[in-house]
Amino acid sequence: MIPVITIDGPSASGKGTVAQCVAQRLGFHYLDSGALYRLTALAAARQGLAGASEEVVGRLAAQLPVAFVGNDIYLAGDVVTEAIRTEECGRLASRLSAFPAVRSALLERQRDFLCLPGLVADGRDMGSVVFPQALLKVFLTATPEVRAQRRFNQLISKGVDVIMADVVRDLRDRDERDRTRAVAPLDPAGALTLDTSALSIDQAVAQILAWYSVNARHEG
Ligand code: C5P
Repeated sequence: MIPVITIDGPSASGKGTVAQCVAQRLGFHYLDSGALYRLTALAAARQGLAGASEEVVGRLAAQLPVAFVGNDIYLAGDVVTEAIRTEECGRLASRLSAFPAVRSALLERQRDFLCLPGLVADGRDMGSVVFPQALLKVFLTATPEVRAQRRFNQLISKGVDVIMADVVRDLRDRDERDRTRAVAPLDPAGALTLDTSALSIDQAVAQILAWYSVNARHEG
């Protein structure tokens, strides 16, 4: 059985950074599942399909010509590593990810990332749906204020012109949609919750590694 650590949580909880550090420390592979939803959104936007039906967007997700090469992400041969990180793309990803057809189209693609010596996967439903067999399931969170501040700092550091009120509203809307959708909603049940509001990245990573070593010892 290939070991998996799932790290789920709301937007701007620090999942991506923490998950990558954990993967690096263990020498495991890393899956950023949100990138697949963002790629679906970007592909839909580029083809004028942002408002298309579930069936059409589901088909698009199933046939997504993507490649992950080192730290770069390609869509139909174009480097889109930065393009998928915009707030606009995140908003559309959140909307399209509520379509069951999109979620099932991306399921196998996500499972394809599973290979030795192990995988750290971050997203919203990694522990509940995609890798239910995970050795460790973490729900990473932080207060809405801390998350909004982190997202704000991130955008400003990228040179994006934003105001705090818009960031707060956007996070709230996205959380609400991710938590209340009918299929694979964001849900802390079944995972160990780690609130990172007052933790550094190193502290969060250390806690996850400590939990993992306990579970791995039990398993072994
Ligand atoms: O994590 P990230 O912000 O990149 O994800 C973008 C959007 O994709 C989320 O707001 C969420 O709606 C969706 N998503 C999802 N399931 C995942 C990962 C992301 O529904 N496993």
